[in-house]
Amino acid sequence: MQKSVYFLDIDDCLIKTSLLGKTHFDRLSISLRQNGIQNYSQITQEFGLSFNILFSRHQGKILGKMEQSIADFYLSRLNEVEKPIIDRYGDIKRWSREAILYIAAERVDTKLNNAQLQSSVKALWDEITTHADFYPDALPFLKKLLVIKKPFYLITSSDNRLTLSDTTGLFHYDPQYSKKLKMERLDKFTKLGIPTDHIFIADPYDKPNPQIFSEALNFARKKLDSSFLSVMIGDSVKSDLLPAKKAGFEKLILLRRHNQTENIPEGIKIISTLSQL
Ligand SMILES: [Mg+2]
Repeated sequence: MQKSVYFLDIDDCLIKTSLLGKTHFDRLSISLRQNGIQNYSQITQEFGLSFNILFSRHQGKILGKMEQSIADFYLSRLNEVEKPIIDRYGDIKRWSREAILYIAAERVDTKLNNAQLQSSVKALWDEITTHADFYPDALPFLKKLLVIKKPFYLITSSDNRLTLSDTTGLFHYDPQYSKKLKMERLDKFTKLGIPTDHIFIADPYDKPNPQIFSEALNFARKKLDSSFLSVMIGDSVKSDLLPAKKAGFEKLILLRRHNQTENIPEGIKIISTLSQL
């Protein structure tokens, strides 16, 4: 039988990442205050509200009239402040915490500069990283693969880390910078002994663009001597499994179905824990 090679999504598949809660907002608020921002608490509240609305929209939830108008406002303002990025890459980095925080501050009549944004968003990501624990089945699974020396690869979204030009009020995107910051946040994986070249971060073209999936698959095909069955494992049909299919992956596995609200297409196997592999 042909051997299988696993490719795994990271966020909300191996570690718990996506939801922002009170501890995250508290940390953001403290950082804004330390950066000399007077209405730190209003900005944090506005950021929390709008981020969660955008996230609900992304998950396909139906928004109320008020929520919809907030989402529309942010999306339209994001298009303006990220214009140079959209012109160059065609796809907006709509999950940039820097840009969303910048707009949230504008909504309460405050102009944040790049230094303030970088420092506050770093505090937020540090807090996210502190709470991004492995799912109980993930750590033993990864350790086992490492012990038996079975090759595997990780494919993860971009964190969309941007910098602001204080002169133009527009955001700048350097894929290498964004990638570097995400790799730092993933140090719990590299500390386990997973080589950095086995971790594929989707900058500049974020998921669901299939490019990063092709990159990982081509890398593995070049590196491994024998042919193998490529297996993509993720928590999202739209962001992990359908793009993997486009990139030529042979087997698609959905893990932690509770994260998934849409219908699951045929040909996708569902498992609830990695020990089922
Ligand atoms: Mg995920």
